[in-house]
Amino acid sequence: MTKRGMLIVLSGPSGVGKGTVRKALFEDPSVDFNYSISMTTRQPRDGEQNGVDYYFVSKTEFEDHIKNGEMLEYAKYVDNYYGTPLNYVNQQLEAGHDVFLEIEVNGALQVRANCPDGIFIFLTPPDIKELRSRLVGRGTDALEVINKRIQTASKEIHMMQNYDYAVVNDKIENAVNQIKDIVRSERLKVKRVMPDYLDSLGDEI
Ligand code: 5GP
Repeated sequence: MTKRGMLIVLSGPSGVGKGTVRKALFEDPSVDFNYSISMTTRQPRDGEQNGVDYYFVSKTEFEDHIKNGEMLEYAKYVDNYYGTPLNYVNQQLEAGHDVFLEIEVNGALQVRANCPDGIFIFLTPPDIKELRSRLVGRGTDALEVINKRIQTASKEIHMMQNYDYAVVNDKIENAVNQIKDIVRSERLKVKRVMPDYLDSLGDEI
């Protein structure tokens, strides 16, 4: 029987740079995870391609997929649906490939409930003071709006407790290396190594 792949979930507060870290990770030639392309109802941005960056679908199509039980998780984020198609993830894991999701926090909690064997990594901003000074410095938001954003960010940061690992996104390169380290050590966990190892010993023990 093929050994099941690992499900790796990268998540974290909005604006922390999950997408940038994910792209940098996949540019690394030593990384061989399979990226699960999400489905969304938001409009493609310039340069984004259907089936590469996202599967861009209508609201009705998305809701049909939900109804048919075809999503591993989904969430509404800034008035649009985002979600992970279940089929691809299952097929790849069963074929022994490691699958990588980059999703927001509510979706990650749903995956955690359904796939307790997954590896849950929380990407977090270096500090909240910096976020405040960035927002104030930008000068585009009223103080009230800034306070609300800080409040949301601090609530989201507390969601860290639902994860297995925390990676501080101070430098993209560091974050990428830490994620690679996490996955490397996860591969060595006894629960992953032992079944094959015992098999390899045959009737000796
Ligand atoms: P953006 O519109 O900037 O591409 O993504 C907005 C947010 O949605 C980001 O935080 C991104 O991580 C998250 N996201 C992308 N795909 C998924 C998904 O399949 N499920 C969930 N729950 N969030 C997603």
